[in-house]
Amino acid sequence: MEARSGERRRRSDRLRRFWSGNKRIRLMLTLALAVMLPAAALIYLNFYQLKSLKREKVLESAIHSDFHQMLAIAEKQINHKAYATTEGVRDVFPSPDAEKEDKLLKLDWILSKHPELAHVFLFEADRGFLFRSQPQRMNDPYFLEEHQRLEKTFRGWFTFEAKTMLEGLHKRKRRTSWIGEWGKRADGYAYMTTAFFSLPRLSQSRMVIAGATFDAEYLKESFFPQMLDALIAYKLGEDGGNPLAMVVYAGDPDDAGGYGLTPGHANKPLAASAGWTEGKPEVSRNFADVFEGLTLGIKFQGTSVEALGRSWVQRGFLALGVLSLLLVGGLALTYRSVSREVALARLKSDFVSNVSHELRTPLALIRLYAETLELGRIKGQTKVEEYYRTIRTESERLTALINNILDFSRIEAGRKEYDFRQTDVAELVRNTLDTYRAQIDEHGFTFEQSIDSSIPPVQVDREAIARSLVNLVNNALKYSDTEKFLGVKLYRADGVLKLEVVDRGIGIARNEQSKIFEKFYRAGNPLVHNTKGSGLGLSLVRHIAHAHGGEVEVESTPGKGSTFTLTLPLDRAIQQPASDAVRMAG
Ligand code: ADP
Repeated sequence: MEARSGERRRRSDRLRRFWSGNKRIRLMLTLALAVMLPAAALIYLNFYQLKSLKREKVLESAIHSDFHQMLAIAEKQINHKAYATTEGVRDVFPSPDAEKEDKLLKLDWILSKHPELAHVFLFEADRGFLFRSQPQRMNDPYFLEEHQRLEKTFRGWFTFEAKTMLEGLHKRKRRTSWIGEWGKRADGYAYMTTAFFSLPRLSQSRMVIAGATFDAEYLKESFFPQMLDALIAYKLGEDGGNPLAMVVYAGDPDDAGGYGLTPGHANKPLAASAGWTEGKPEVSRNFADVFEGLTLGIKFQGTSVEALGRSWVQRGFLALGVLSLLLVGGLALTYRSVSREVALARLKSDFVSNVSHELRTPLALIRLYAETLELGRIKGQTKVEEYYRTIRTESERLTALINNILDFSRIEAGRKEYDFRQTDVAELVRNTLDTYRAQIDEHGFTFEQSIDSSIPPVQVDREAIARSLVNLVNNALKYSDTEKFLGVKLYRADGVLKLEVVDRGIGIARNEQSKIFEKFYRAGNPLVHNTKGSGLGLSLVRHIAHAHGGEVEVESTPGKGSTFTLTLPLDRAIQQPASDAVRMAG
């Protein structure tokens, strides 16, 4: 029992340790659960919906049903106008009981008032049939032929079928029936429609039929174009979507309405709205009643419903694609910044342990040597000197380390100040190397220096430049194993001053070359791990270089050695007055 609970505790302890030790995994998991998962689900859902919209052509069918509705309304309005005209004419029709002369005069008067009518007629069983046509059109042979044909046909019908026709008329709500037909013209066929109506204020038992034929040219050139344009303008005012176009054309001869037409003539536009271009209408509707034989069609100007649907779906997919990319990009960015933060936190903790170690070792050595000396147990002058030298070099190392840490903390706090003064850099470099000479020799390094003494004075912070050089030289000593060589070169090139520190040590891998200038960064090389260091030196050198308007760069081949070059501008002397303390934020 106890053993099992102990095991459980251990397991949960392990889990807790794993959890707190893997900050990055924890953060990424939280991110994935809280942001990625819902967002991805949303995107997937949208994607799926879009696919089904595309498959079922939802947009297309919505537009089509809208079109059907618009055509129904259009037919109603077109019919309404035709009815209004005929009803206006019916009201002024002559009475069948008037004198023939008067009736003719009245019919001619109607024609003169209504140029949209080609023919008007009045039939009375006992008094015969009167048929009048627009007089000024009678010299057109096609019109004359139409006049003769219609008069003959109507007379025949009325004589034999007036009774049945009237019965039919009286059953209709508006007491009007229509016959549409195609008449011949010079350029082919022309559509006309004729209204037959009974006259108001007459007893239903009277055999009277009146009527009027709409002029084919009027229908084609004014009536339909004007109606279609008005309908489209009305629709446009309603919703400023894609512009529409409408057409009226001869219905298919196979359809009920297409009678009397040669097949070659079917489906040809009779009239169209301004925006109509070639092509088939998206949705069409056969006229019934007034304009039987004609078909009304509608489409978008310059595009098709299918293309619209396609581009709509495409836009949806594109938006989803961009959204997914953004999501992935955002996740990658977050991952990067989290990784950086975690790496920095790790570097910081490494730094603390490195620095404590670095402080403790020289202090212990100094104490041990000082105590030994104090006890006076050392025999021999050279040994004593060696002890003193060790104490000196170790305290120098301590000072350098403490200086680095102090500088670093000033930079971090934004309080680092540089004291720029006219300086003979050649002398500064020579002096710094001199104090270091003993250490260089002690480590068994071959040392070469080449210093151009003709360099004019430059505005620099003496201490900072000396510290940079010490850091670079120190690194060269630390990170060399078999081949111990140190070269320092100071020279002028293209208006700049270059200070080069060369070694033939372990070198730095290419992917680490830019990182080594970051604070706390130490390369992954095992020799680096076994060497004391804080990871601050190069970040300070870079800060100093930038403060001087210069740069520090590295060229390195792993296993062959490295060259660090500190570049300082020469013309600073002109820009900056002497002894100007410049405050540099970190
Ligand atoms: P530290 O030497 O205290 O670790 P630095 O900032 O001076 O910190 O250097 C950062 C890292 O750059 C070092 O840990 C080491 O990996 C690499 N480095 C610096 N100088 C050299 C060099 N001369 N040769 C090889 N590696 C170097």
